[in-house]
Amino acid sequence: MVQSRGYAASQSGAPLTAMTFDRREPGPRDIVMTITHCGICHSDLHAIDDDLGNTGFPVVPGHEIVGVITAIGDEVTRFQVGDKAAVGCYVDSCRSCDPCLSDRQQMCATMIPSFNGLEKDGNHRTMGGFSTNYVADQDYVFKIPQAMDSARAAPILCAGITVWSPLQKWRVGPGSKVGVVGLGGLGHMAVKLAAALGADVTIFTTSDAKGADAIRLGARNAILSNDDAAMATIASAMDFILDTVSAQHDINGYIAALKPEGTLCLLGIGPGGLQIANLSVVFGQKCIAGSLIGGLHQTQAVIDFCAAHDVMPEIELVPHAQINQALDRLRRNDVKYRFVVEMTPEN
Ligand SMILES: [Zn+2]
Ligand SMILES: [Zn+2]
Repeated sequence: MVQSRGYAASQSGAPLTAMTFDRREPGPRDIVMTITHCGICHSDLHAIDDDLGNTGFPVVPGHEIVGVITAIGDEVTRFQVGDKAAVGCYVDSCRSCDPCLSDRQQMCATMIPSFNGLEKDGNHRTMGGFSTNYVADQDYVFKIPQAMDSARAAPILCAGITVWSPLQKWRVGPGSKVGVVGLGGLGHMAVKLAAALGADVTIFTTSDAKGADAIRLGARNAILSNDDAAMATIASAMDFILDTVSAQHDINGYIAALKPEGTLCLLGIGPGGLQIANLSVVFGQKCIAGSLIGGLHQTQAVIDFCAAHDVMPEIELVPHAQINQALDRLRRNDVKYRFVVEMTPEN
């Protein structure tokens, strides 16, 4: 067994407290890594609050996990001790179903999430990255370039891949008119990545200050989504809109902003539902879509794209002892734009 120390919620909504636990015994194809950094994602809050009704307590959240390899099994070929490495939202899957064979492992019926899941040994719950170490199969571990800043790399593992995958699927590139709704952890990476792909990016926000910040990050336009006159100026203008907002909100202004045949892709997983103006969708032959993280190869691809184009998340680095203050601030959307927790100081 590998002993780990982490921060766990003991019941729904509880603050995280220190906990010692065992990870599974590493096998010949596994790596062990010391976790240096872990980003804080809204879905960590959803898990702590049991918003989806599937949290097993105690839960150690955290799924934007970056660290350094400290041990490798006999059959590990992709990593050496001392390499930087990362674990994202899931750590195994069946490897033989249609999604697994087409790099959509996140859609596998037996995908094992990196926390709040059950390891293949059937004995250990997966515990996330707000902890000292991780044991994972090498095939589900990503390479982080040695020169990449580990703290800033962490949010690529969820926020980055979550926006990258739909940008790829809907072929966003030079000439694309792309809208991004919300400028949080996901939204700010959507702006940066879409701009780096050559798209003409418009941010939809309710805050003048965030609009100005989005332009600094690469957007060409900022539209106040609660200003009807401003929204009217971009009616039928967008090829593709990525809606990163998790809370309940009105999406019909964004449907109106789509060109005919355009697509609005939803990324939020907040509870509740959304109302859709069906006439606008039908008469414009528009598409309402959803997207969930991304596949293994696609995740490595976005890490490599970020390294090649120097497109890195904007983060606030917090020491692990302040994890609860950071979670409380995230609940109030008070973060620019992603908290990353320093778990173990890098040497
Ligand atoms: Zn996440
Ligand atoms: Zn599968």
